Amino acid sequence: MKHKIAIDDIESSDNKTVSYEFNDKIDGIESLGNIYSKLEIKSLGDFIQVVGNVKGILSLECDLCLKKFDYNMDFVIDEMFAKHALQDEYGKETELHDGQFITDLNGENEIDIYDILYQSVILNLPNRKVCGINCNGEKFFQKEEISDPRMDVFKNIQIQPKSK
Ligand SMILES: [Zn+2]
Repeated sequence: MKHKIAIDDIESSDNKTVSYEFNDKIDGIESLGNIYSKLEIKSLGDFIQVVGNVKGILSLECDLCLKKFDYNMDFVIDEMFAKHALQDEYGKETELHDGQFITDLNGENEIDIYDILYQSVILNLPNRKVCGINCNGEKFFQKEEISDPRMDVFKNIQIQPKSK
């Protein structure tokens, strides 16, 4: 499986831009069917810009009930890569503007689409993975909260009969 683009090919293309369609599974990411991405890879002199979208249905594990559920993934990629090693003062990953980083290619002569997609999918996973509003785990947690010993004090207040 090779999803790499030679930087020379980008340079020699019209407008120094190459379109790339990815329609494949990604190792280490559980998906229902393929992950689909349409990218534009453009040379901007010392930098390579990768822009496009990524779609697919992932099979994620619910954080609460541990059940597998389908997650409809759809996000935008907009990343910059430096062809040559960045100056030390920039560091390995330099933030260009909000959330956009420049990744150092360290003088490599090709760009690895497979790796870019893998990293992007991982970064775009939801922080809290919940299978749905009817998650049984959620109910379980609510019940547990009620029987929390710290709540007993409140129960006692309610139970106390009005004495007169
Ligand atoms: Zn769940």
